[in-house]
Amino acid sequence: MGFSAIIFLFLTLLWLLSMALYIQKFGGTSVGSIERIQHVADTVIKTKQAGHQVVVVVSAMSGETDRLIGLINQAVDAPNLREYDVLVSTGEQVSMALTAMCLSAKGYPARSYTGAQAGIKTESIHQKAHINDIDVASLKAALAQDIIPVVAGFQGLSEEGEVTTLGRGGSDTTAVAIAAALKADECQIYTDVDGVYTADPRVVPAARLLPTITLEEMLEMAGLGAKVLQNRSVRYAGRFKVPLRVLSSFSNNPGTLITYEESTMEKPLVSGIAFNRSEAKISIFGVPFKPDVTAKILQPIADAHIDIDMILQNTTQDNSCDVTFTVNREDYRRALAIVETTAKELAARGVSGDNKIAKLSIVGVGMRAHTGVANKMFTTLAEEGVTVQLITTSEIKISVVIDEKYLELAARALHTAFDLDVSEPTEEFDPVVIKK
Ligand code: ASP
Ligand code: MG
Repeated sequence: MGFSAIIFLFLTLLWLLSMALYIQKFGGTSVGSIERIQHVADTVIKTKQAGHQVVVVVSAMSGETDRLIGLINQAVDAPNLREYDVLVSTGEQVSMALTAMCLSAKGYPARSYTGAQAGIKTESIHQKAHINDIDVASLKAALAQDIIPVVAGFQGLSEEGEVTTLGRGGSDTTAVAIAAALKADECQIYTDVDGVYTADPRVVPAARLLPTITLEEMLEMAGLGAKVLQNRSVRYAGRFKVPLRVLSSFSNNPGTLITYEESTMEKPLVSGIAFNRSEAKISIFGVPFKPDVTAKILQPIADAHIDIDMILQNTTQDNSCDVTFTVNREDYRRALAIVETTAKELAARGVSGDNKIAKLSIVGVGMRAHTGVANKMFTTLAEEGVTVQLITTSEIKISVVIDEKYLELAARALHTAFDLDVSEPTEEFDPVVIKK
């Protein structure tokens, strides 16, 4: 073998080693028009030109799934769930074919795949099936021929050969599952936000984009209402340690990478602040105390399939007790009526409710390694005159219920107190220097 042949082989090896496989998933707004789909094709092509392989996953064009569900609701009161899935899964098939056409027309051969064609096997449940397994043979065959597979998100095939769907927002899970099955180098979820912020920038103007967030923090933030990714997809990513990045298809920001490292020492105390106005509070007070009193109060709520979030019970000196809990705001009236009935049965002194509350949480794996975080939270809120009504904690989260009208004030104060605000202007922009 000549010297130049060795060099050639060496360079080929280097090239192969530097070639990565990316799963790029585009959400509804990212494929919302033909213009946006052309832009998706350009993004994919840029990745190809950098020497990488790509599998594309697409959602339905924005608003399309809602439109299809609207048609179903107009047609019948209680749809047959098989037909429901057959119908709503068509949204993704429109975008997959359009995306494949645009890629091919730009000189990058692509082929669309329904969930079934992509080998996505799910449980035999309609509307919210879990993915059991992916037979990646067809995707691998396409990649081997340098054809870009464009997969319809949100859908799969049951063992009985029926079309299933994965629940609203399910295309995220399709992408993560394919990334896990193909052992992709990164699963990139392109959406209409720049990534995960320290807090909702519409409420906290000083919010910052997080370059990384740990999986646990992401799950807490999502559970608290910060809706960037479908929660199921984040849990799936965690199970298989899929490198997952959320980024915008409207900008060139690198977005937020979800990480799995366990070292918390150099982490900030708090990584983010989440809040929502989706809960309501109900209290029953002066209930003659018995060990099973809380169970007696909460059982009828559970029987009515109403979810309870936070619970507080305290016993007073006269041996009666007060129980307070929160439910979803939509369930407030129903829950209140149930508790009023229970109150009579248990000879309670009274019932009160409040649906103008907000839940505010600070989240951070750094809390594990540090003390005083709760105290700092309560001191900050007290300084702003905000009264805390309920508290729950986990290892990496502290949540409080406050009066809804103080939400903005409290969120901003905590954001500043935990050093999350965007950094001050650098020295060059120091007004003192400019004055000179
Ligand atoms: N098109 C489906 C939905 O709107 C799935 C998705 O977009 O992820 O829920
Ligand atoms: Mg989505």
